[in-house]
Amino acid sequence: MNKKTVRALIEAAKRARLKAYCPYSRYPIGAAVLTDSGRIFPGANVENASYGLTICGERTAVANAVTHGEKSLTAVCVVGKSPRPCGACRQFMIEFSTKDTWLYIVDLGGDGRRESVNRTRVFAMLPGAFDPLEAGLLPRNPTNLLKRRSRKGAKRRARPARR
Ligand code: ZN
Repeated sequence: MNKKTVRALIEAAKRARLKAYCPYSRYPIGAAVLTDSGRIFPGANVENASYGLTICGERTAVANAVTHGEKSLTAVCVVGKSPRPCGACRQFMIEFSTKDTWLYIVDLGGDGRRESVNRTRVFAMLPGAFDPLEAGLLPRNPTNLLKRRSRKGAKRRARPARR
């Protein structure tokens, strides 16, 4: 990933953080995902008075991407004060990640002004994760399968138009 793309991803997550709804924890988290098509989708944590219904920024970002038809993540970014994806988010991200999907963790520090960036892989954050592919619940590399299907569909549609 080039520096410009990484910067765009981080800035999208930072902007999302400003939209966080966190009146209970006062712990805003911004996230953003870069999909294989090159698009960036933001998300922020959304808390709830019941506490248990609270959803993290990482999951809202992934849900945002999926809602827009994207199912394969190139990178995920999470921004906050000492942010770390929780266990639920790690499993949630793996559903749409490959072993190559990057995870950028951007720590804004106690005053919210620093910016230290750590990069790792989504899969490295959850050793022994439940993998729907290994469990045989999805075909191997479903994203590529979907891409191949859509390319075939596009060719089929294109051919009659050329005649
Ligand atoms: Zn989480």
